[in-house]
Amino acid sequence: MHNNELVLYYQPKVCLLRGVVIGAEALVRWSDREHGLLAPDVFLPLAEKSGLLHDLTLKLLDQIVDASKQLREREELGSLANPALSVEPMSISMNVAPNDLASRTISNRIKELLAGREIRSTDLQIEITESAVMGNVDRVYDDLCRLKSMGIKILMDDFGTGYSSIDRLSQLPFDALKLDQGVVKRMGTSRQNLDVVRSAISMARELGMTSVAEGIESAEIYNFLLAHGCEEAQGYFIAHPMSFADFQDFLSVNHHFEGSQIGRVHQASLDLLRYRKMLMDAAFCARLGQGVSLKSVADPEIDFDVRRSPIGSWYYGVGQQLADVESFVSMEDSLRKVHADGRSFLQLIRSGMSATELEQSISNIDIQIGSLISQLHKLEHLLLTSRA
Ligand code: C2E
Ligand code: MG
Ligand code: MG
Repeated sequence: MHNNELVLYYQPKVCLLRGVVIGAEALVRWSDREHGLLAPDVFLPLAEKSGLLHDLTLKLLDQIVDASKQLREREELGSLANPALSVEPMSISMNVAPNDLASRTISNRIKELLAGREIRSTDLQIEITESAVMGNVDRVYDDLCRLKSMGIKILMDDFGTGYSSIDRLSQLPFDALKLDQGVVKRMGTSRQNLDVVRSAISMARELGMTSVAEGIESAEIYNFLLAHGCEEAQGYFIAHPMSFADFQDFLSVNHHFEGSQIGRVHQASLDLLRYRKMLMDAAFCARLGQGVSLKSVADPEIDFDVRRSPIGSWYYGVGQQLADVESFVSMEDSLRKVHADGRSFLQLIRSGMSATELEQSISNIDIQIGSLISQLHKLEHLLLTSRA
């Protein structure tokens, strides 16, 4: 640390929906004169044991802040040079250990950096491994919430190796699940292993989290993840970790990465089916009468704002990149209508509607959902043929 021999390497991350580089993961190396470049697994456990982790983490955070500043300058210069072509803002993710969180080392420093406007909350993300969180929930929970309240995204790293229960997961303030590279690599070996990845992507969506995959080493794996709605990707297939200077060079080259919303459009049709099922469940519970159904099932909540619904967060978020596609634009009216109809359907159930009213309302909602699904299918066909 005194000799400044700890350096960060940056491994690019790509948005699978758009095929563009959106940032990098910072990975520490010890550049030792005698032994060359040492991997973190070799020296981090020693740093932790000898009580040096606290200082090491702060030093690395300083390096990331410098890197972020340079990336921001690049972004600002780019938009000055050509206001019509905005340069993608970069986000750097940093790995932390439970002690970094329990001691508030990271969050105290980040708070200062944000207050001094030295970084924006979107410049930085925090990664912590699933096993580290699950073994230390009580020690890290408050700090995770604190970071989240500052607008910092938090990723659960190596997801699939730490035995988290879905119940625990839904209560922790994670923004993204980063699938473990072992899980990603095994995908190609059997149908079951493929299904594990597919359900992890769907689970992330249902919990309102982003799905990220690491350890992607081939085009086959990259394309499968893209087709199933995984949102971000990292791995040797895209690029190996590299020095910051090399990362800047990497950004200035016009790389082509495949990107498509096709997987996300498929997820949107699943969102609609889940929405319909939620309404059906509420109707079914009403028929059963009081006291024999789960309250959250009998009386579900639909946010007033369609933008906050699962499908709305795609449509009004990243989906907007398809705003020049007719079948995308024409979905908006039905989307708003089916959302409003769902809310009135629940109100009618609460006030005790007749069987005829129920039948009529369900039919109306089904017409809207049917039309939305067929528009999503059209969009899928279009994305297939245009490779957009
Ligand atoms: P991680 O956060 O899961 O990082 C991903 C690891 O996988 C990195 O190893 C990266 O070089 C490697 N990797 C990336 N793409 C591929 C691929 O396509 N194939 C294969 N086989 N490997 C790939 P690395 O740099 O040796 O880091 C190991 C672990 O050390 C990291 O795992 C992270 O948990 C920890 N670590 C790294 N830097 C830091 C740090 O600054 N602080 C803390 N607390 N932990 C760190
Ligand atoms: Mg990581
Ligand atoms: Mg990992």
